[in-house]
Amino acid sequence: MRRLFAVLLAVMFVWTLPAGRALGQAAGVKVIVNGVEVSLPAPAVFSGGQVMAPISGLFEPMGAIAAYYESDRSIVVSNRVRTTLRMRLGDPTLHVNGTARPLPIAPSLQGSQVYVPAQAVFSALGAWTKFEDADRTLYVSSQIRSLTTLVVADALQVRVDATGPVQVETNVLSSPDRLVVDFLHAALRTQERELSINGAGVTRIRTAQFQIKPYVSRMVFDLAQPVEVRVTTSTTSYLVTLEVRPKGQVTSTGGPPAEPRDPSQAAAAKIMGVKFEESGQAGRLVIEGTNTMEYKVREFVYPDRLAIDIQNAVFIPIKQEFAVDGPSIVSIRAAQFTADPPITRVVVILKRKMNYLVSQSDGRLRIEINAYTGRGHIVALDPGHGGRDPGAVGPTGLRESDAVLDIALRVRELLQRDGIRVVMVRETDATVELPDRPRLAREAGATIFVSLHANAHARTAVNGSETYYLTPQSLALAQMIQDELGIVLGIPSRGIKTANFVVLRDSGIPSVLVEAAFISHADDEAHLRDATFRQRIAQAIHKGINRFLAIYPSPVAP
Ligand SMILES: [Zn+2]
Repeated sequence: MRRLFAVLLAVMFVWTLPAGRALGQAAGVKVIVNGVEVSLPAPAVFSGGQVMAPISGLFEPMGAIAAYYESDRSIVVSNRVRTTLRMRLGDPTLHVNGTARPLPIAPSLQGSQVYVPAQAVFSALGAWTKFEDADRTLYVSSQIRSLTTLVVADALQVRVDATGPVQVETNVLSSPDRLVVDFLHAALRTQERELSINGAGVTRIRTAQFQIKPYVSRMVFDLAQPVEVRVTTSTTSYLVTLEVRPKGQVTSTGGPPAEPRDPSQAAAAKIMGVKFEESGQAGRLVIEGTNTMEYKVREFVYPDRLAIDIQNAVFIPIKQEFAVDGPSIVSIRAAQFTADPPITRVVVILKRKMNYLVSQSDGRLRIEINAYTGRGHIVALDPGHGGRDPGAVGPTGLRESDAVLDIALRVRELLQRDGIRVVMVRETDATVELPDRPRLAREAGATIFVSLHANAHARTAVNGSETYYLTPQSLALAQMIQDELGIVLGIPSRGIKTANFVVLRDSGIPSVLVEAAFISHADDEAHLRDATFRQRIAQAIHKGINRFLAIYPSPVAP
């Protein structure tokens, strides 16, 4: 990027400082959000009935992002359902979508960290919180605020609306047939109740707070016949939809009733093996067995994965493990998890959260895995320079305009594989004027804008990657992309910075400018000539964009 346009703002941003993390955990209060212990950059402290905690990374397991703006000493926390919280250092007031309410303690600056009263802020996001003095831990969970059911044609739809991310575990049991759906780390805000359904193979649903510490909210579906269930997680809200329908088209009416069965005496099912059929963004996992299987599907995070536990089942191959390395799935492994009782466990390691549909027939368990895409988003990629303007030129003659075009095309390929729409500001060595770049993106309906550059410095010893942003809504995108670049490139991460670049001004959408490496640095230039390195840059940008799309609301309804 040419520095002519760079006017550094008097805006500074305080972000995660990994140093001191270990110290913080040893000395301070622990914070566990939706089952995940937050890595705090400095210790959280308990004072005046509140846990004061640094904002860095604090809200991410609740699906929210916090930012601090030194220019007006303000703190902004926002989530996927467009709750925006604003606070200011030294002022005990919280603005929730513009409405003021008092805070028990004002946010403050301690060293380089911004501290906020954690329970009050999490509560404003709709979360349940409790500080346990015994283990000096603040527990925070998403809450389920409503359950609505609807029978359409032969399917039962259950919409579960939560105040934050929830993990879903489905458990299909027989004798009698029932489906148990657990929402892990989710507190039930609605009253326990029982609903008559009498449709789609379901006679009734019972809901209850099944467990506390950690919270598990449970729905039990009493079934008139075997069913299959599809679990869909919305990309734009914290809505989980369960679709339950009779298995296949054949009903089990007629014939003698099934023998009641004592599970402890039933012969164990044999699992003959596991295979994966790739299709589209993901594919289908098939578990081959000899009997009808009782199974449980659970979602885990860090890394995202699905675990399928098959009860009373012996895994004949003993162990199976294979890499998929597809756009959405990393690998699959299957093994005997416990011998007594015999449980077979199959784990699918995902590249990110996915939707899934489980069905069973003819001794086979099928798990259809579907991409969880940034539907509704259109990503604009802007390879810098081009045509008359080659940008910076490296010591051995590599042109910035050529290197960044190649990287942008690779990012496009990766995003399109996820089903995300992409617009290119240029896809050839064309001249595009600077003010035209955001305008072209806007006209194409872009919802985020990513400009790609290679840096240059008069001091040729300077190298590494950095990402620029200008508007508050662009900060999280810059941070997420830069985090990924820092992890994979093996060159210094120079962090995120603000600059008044033309392409970052007033676009109205999250807009960032990535300086992937210094083309003026001999080694960085050599890296940029290497297709493997350019692919790594593209993968990091792709991953950062995907992380952002998972949190930032799509402007279009799904
Ligand atoms: Zn440039």
